[in-house]
Amino acid sequence: MSGGSSYVLPFSASSLASPPGGNNLPPPMVTAPGDEQGNAIRSAPIFEAIKSGMLVPVQTIVEQEGVGVLSTRDEKGHTPAHWACLGGHTAILRFIIEHKGPIDEPSNNDLGAHPIHWAAVNGHIAVVDILIQAGVSIDAPDNKGCSPLIVACQYGQTMLAGYFMGKGARLQLTDKDGDNALHWAAFKGHSELMRLLIYSGFNPRQKDNYWQTPLHLACINGNITAVKELCEQDGVEIDLADKNGKTPLMLAVGRKHDQIIRYLKKEAKFRTSVLPRIDFWAIIFGPPGNTKGPLLFFLVSVLLWGYPMYVFKCLPQTYYELQPLHVVFMVVNVFMWISLYHANTVNPGFLPRNIPEYDQAIRQVAHFDEWKQGNNPLKHLCHTCRTIKPLRAKHCRYCNRCVKEFDHHCPYIHNCVGYHNRITFVIFTLCVTLCGLFTMYFSVFIMALEGYPWRPDYLVGLILMIFFEGVAVFVFGAAMVHAAYNVTTNERINHKRYDYLKDGKGKFYNPYNKGVKHNLQEFLHLRKPPRDEEVELLGVDIV
Ligand SMILES: [Zn+2]
Ligand SMILES: [Zn+2]
Repeated sequence: MSGGSSYVLPFSASSLASPPGGNNLPPPMVTAPGDEQGNAIRSAPIFEAIKSGMLVPVQTIVEQEGVGVLSTRDEKGHTPAHWACLGGHTAILRFIIEHKGPIDEPSNNDLGAHPIHWAAVNGHIAVVDILIQAGVSIDAPDNKGCSPLIVACQYGQTMLAGYFMGKGARLQLTDKDGDNALHWAAFKGHSELMRLLIYSGFNPRQKDNYWQTPLHLACINGNITAVKELCEQDGVEIDLADKNGKTPLMLAVGRKHDQIIRYLKKEAKFRTSVLPRIDFWAIIFGPPGNTKGPLLFFLVSVLLWGYPMYVFKCLPQTYYELQPLHVVFMVVNVFMWISLYHANTVNPGFLPRNIPEYDQAIRQVAHFDEWKQGNNPLKHLCHTCRTIKPLRAKHCRYCNRCVKEFDHHCPYIHNCVGYHNRITFVIFTLCVTLCGLFTMYFSVFIMALEGYPWRPDYLVGLILMIFFEGVAVFVFGAAMVHAAYNVTTNERINHKRYDYLKDGKGKFYNPYNKGVKHNLQEFLHLRKPPRDEEVELLGVDIV
């Protein structure tokens, strides 16, 4: 894509509707993609009948004029199948197939789109499924080199894009400018879709023929969420120049996207700074990426610093005075290591991958008439794990697996916190909290014995202590509050993304909260969590 404003969209820009919230389907487009006048000219009766979406008039015309009418072209060079696909008229499409009408002929115009491209514009999965079953190529390019997957991404059709990838569409295809599906999703600012594409294997660093990466294109469009999403990906450089020497920041400045300009400048400062990034979020939840750093930091601090200090310094001096405390301290330590080992090694609740129900759901989509009512049968699918996600499950980007009752990915235990290890996780944070309090008490006790000497090793020890104590208290406290209210960390932070956490008016509502006692029993696995069907939903699928 060229960075200039002269960029021409393959289809008319006015018809691009981005789905609000990502879940609702945009209204179907009735005019032909690329046609300015649309329905202004009256076409032959067969085309009018198909546009109306009713099968009977189509059957009548074919009976009167013969099946040849299904191979005719309208005044713009489109076939009847194009219009059936654009409108999502599955019955008419099946009728055309039964009567051997063409279903994969390109339009006689510059763009040369096939019917499958038109189906992709409006995200008609059912139509696409019928076409593929009838032998139409999933990767057919139009004259600009756009595959149906690319077209789906141009129009923000996340579910259809997931369907295409599930059916094995080739990801490496690009249009004639070298732009792939991810470039287009970034250019259009469809951040939800971008996430799906990146999870599915798209490279966020790929350059097109103008040397532009998806980040350049997101900066042109001005969607801050898309820009952040890309900057958070491992190895994405933020100051690459394109063929015209423009960096993403320069493109954003040229278009006066102030929020993006501020974000990129801040990001650049962090990246070039020699000081470590001080980010409260990163301290608590660890730096981005699946790194063992925080876990190793904890192990090294405790094993190479804390324990030697305790064994060689603290024990000999205070063993007789503080004997009961030492016994309790050691017991707590044992519990800490056991709970850390369990939380780190146990399966936190990974959902099974490649389950047949996933394929079934994909296949059923073709016969799913509820699309029009806003019920989205693909909403609960994870296309990376190829599995069905129950409520409260989430795909962890570090583990690259879906986790049942996902809480958060904890870098200190180097594992997700989920259904199977949340108790040991809480025990671990409690043990760290207690150990910290003990250690502080021992340190102060010894320093008092020595008359409060000024020693750097004591100071480092104290700083480390305060750090771990602060993190442990915060995480333990948050975990207990969440358990008492029966909400996960993920739900607390991202509740706006989940329909089941909304009441009819879109406000936060927690269907799992049944009182503190009940909630804690459920947290401790003393009570079975409700099945998805039993959860009282207020806001789901309110369109
Ligand atoms: Zn997943
Ligand atoms: Zn994880």
